[in-house]
Amino acid sequence: MAFVTRFAPSPTGPLHLGHAYSALLASDMARAAGGAFLLRIEDIDQSRCRPEWEAQIYDDLRWLGLEWSSVMRQSDRMPAYRKALQSLWDQELIYSCTCSRHDIKQALSAPQEGVQTMGPDGLVYPGTCRGRVREDEMPLGSALRLDAGRAFRRLGPLEFMETGCRPGSHVVTEPEFREGIGDIVIARREMETSYHLSVVVDDAAQGISHVIRGEDLFEATKIHVVLQKLLGLSSPIYHHHPLIRDDHGKRLAKRDDARALSKYRAEGATPQDIRRMVGL
Ligand code: GLU
Repeated sequence: MAFVTRFAPSPTGPLHLGHAYSALLASDMARAAGGAFLLRIEDIDQSRCRPEWEAQIYDDLRWLGLEWSSVMRQSDRMPAYRKALQSLWDQELIYSCTCSRHDIKQALSAPQEGVQTMGPDGLVYPGTCRGRVREDEMPLGSALRLDAGRAFRRLGPLEFMETGCRPGSHVVTEPEFREGIGDIVIARREMETSYHLSVVVDDAAQGISHVIRGEDLFEATKIHVVLQKLLGLSSPIYHHHPLIRDDHGKRLAKRDDARALSKYRAEGATPQDIRRMVGL
């Protein structure tokens, strides 16, 4: 199997050491396998993305010595997401939801509903809108949620292969998914897609064989595998790597400007220094 991987940053802030590690590791693994390293700009959240951050991403990655054979921008991909969404709607696997965060919290605090569970996508949705009458046409612009129970009745247990943080084959079961993840949002209100839908559609479109990314996304992989199956797409192999942490053991975030690559560059660090700092 050809080895094709990608680095998929969101242009919502400066790249930091954690991004450098992820991008260098993916590129190194592609090179070692004689494969390809691609870039994808994850800019569906137009309220948070900025062109100057996108420009800085290219600049930082080039400075690190990375080369990519092609780049995809998610903001150019809305028709592909719409098609995937329509397929889920036609299969009656998604439904519209009008609940606010406040409504969800209230429903979850009602005594008969039991404990609040946090999934990889926030609070596990109690299903308030699931039984509502279905619209004649897919209501684009509304929040659309996956009917997880229905999806699993269609699919049965699923499996994915992990070569990074918890190596081996992982089975995703219906009870685990329903209780720990639930009816997640597949299209956010007014956005007409979500991170999960876009990542799955684009990994397939870019022919990604190996997804290499931080271990904070390990649990979300279960969502991705479900969507891949429902959309008739094959699942890549996953490699979740450890996160680069600050001196206090806290994971780095985009707002931690202190760890921004541009800062190290300005202070005279070389790409080799960055490799050393992230342990590559
Ligand atoms: N865009 C995501 C991020 O910047 C990465 C998504 C992925 O690699 O699947 O955290």
